[in-house]
Amino acid sequence: MQAQRAQGTEDLYGSYMRSWQRMVSEAEQLFSDWGFDMIETPAMEQVSTFVHGIGESTDVVRKEMFRVYSGALLEGIFERGSEEHLKPRQRLALRPEGTAGIVRSAVENTFVPQGGAPVKLWYAMPMFRGERPQKGRLRQFHQVGLEWLGASDPAADAECIIVLMEYFQRLGFAPEQLRLTINSMGDATCRPAYREQVRAFILDHADEMCDDCIERAELNPLRAFDCKSEHCREVMQAAPRVTQALCDECAAHYAQVKTYLDAAGVAYEEDETLVRGLDYYTRTVFEVEVVGSSVGAIGGGGRYDGLVELEGGKPTPGLGFAVGFERIALALEELGVSLAGDEPSCAYVACADPSLREAVFSLVLELRRAGVRTECDYQARSLKSQLKQADKLGATVCLVLGPDEVAAGSVTLRDMGTHEQRLVARGDVVGQVASSFTSA
Ligand SMILES: [Zn+2]
Ligand SMILES: [Zn+2]
Repeated sequence: MQAQRAQGTEDLYGSYMRSWQRMVSEAEQLFSDWGFDMIETPAMEQVSTFVHGIGESTDVVRKEMFRVYSGALLEGIFERGSEEHLKPRQRLALRPEGTAGIVRSAVENTFVPQGGAPVKLWYAMPMFRGERPQKGRLRQFHQVGLEWLGASDPAADAECIIVLMEYFQRLGFAPEQLRLTINSMGDATCRPAYREQVRAFILDHADEMCDDCIERAELNPLRAFDCKSEHCREVMQAAPRVTQALCDECAAHYAQVKTYLDAAGVAYEEDETLVRGLDYYTRTVFEVEVVGSSVGAIGGGGRYDGLVELEGGKPTPGLGFAVGFERIALALEELGVSLAGDEPSCAYVACADPSLREAVFSLVLELRRAGVRTECDYQARSLKSQLKQADKLGATVCLVLGPDEVAAGSVTLRDMGTHEQRLVARGDVVGQVASSFTSA
């Protein structure tokens, strides 16, 4: 039987790979200008990192996390019928999102000593969730994101949102194609009381809501705002509003974030039902959708002032966002925008006589060392089929080396677009081709 990839996973190659590379390279340039350094954390973490960070009651932790056991451990688990005997360091999971692991790393490596300057990090990593695979929702998917630890200033919230919108523009979205929604979820001072209000509201409307929401009332009532059931969301429209429940500090912080966004000319909508799926968010949360698209949110994030403590660190404010590669690729495809760009152009060196194979070898080497993507024949094909191959590879120029050329100390340079050809001195040809590639 032919081998198949795992369900809900994709191979990245060709133009799809170029799209992912483009997302990473645009991120690298932009985020570097904004003072962020790249980080990569292990794909595997101790389960406790995610349980502390993401929250025991979230669907991500309860249902969607891929747990990882060695074969030997698994045998023991089957024998005993549980994993109770395992040590915490033996309980591993693949990361379902980036933030918890990065915060764990920041705590473990003391990136933010007490009273120290904030640390600004960005990442481009695959994530893993055991969801039912569907369009734009994979079991291994890719995210680009950033985390900013140690900054409580509302200017940081605004800058996070501004750099996110700038990133989307660089990927090819026009500002009017995007809808940015923001909200404040309060903090440890004001959220418990608000949570209690929402819990009471759900229980008052229990006969109208789904079983999941009834369960949420106890575990995580705010999640009822983004229940998958449309009816639940309608009922929740009448639920108590968070802005009414914010304490003075949270209200002032939120107002200042909006003032900065206004000053930057970034358009946003306030949505009081916007609650991000993970427990760790405090105060500012935000999400970006493509107007009129069915792809869903292409990015979002927010502030998580309690998370560093949950991962065992000293109290440290934090915030960040993540964007999903697969959804962005789908959304741009819908808009007819190419994320991948054109295939890289190349030069082809054709060998008109087998005795000149070594001369071709040297010329190919020189061109590559001069920064020109160069191909040639490795199958001893005829000149005619080499030229066909050059065409197929999308070569913009073909350099032909034959006995006549070598005798004259030159190379035939053929423009593959116009089919014009001319002789160029061997000593000049690399410089000429290289400069035509850099100016293209
Ligand atoms: Zn519901
Ligand atoms: Zn508050």
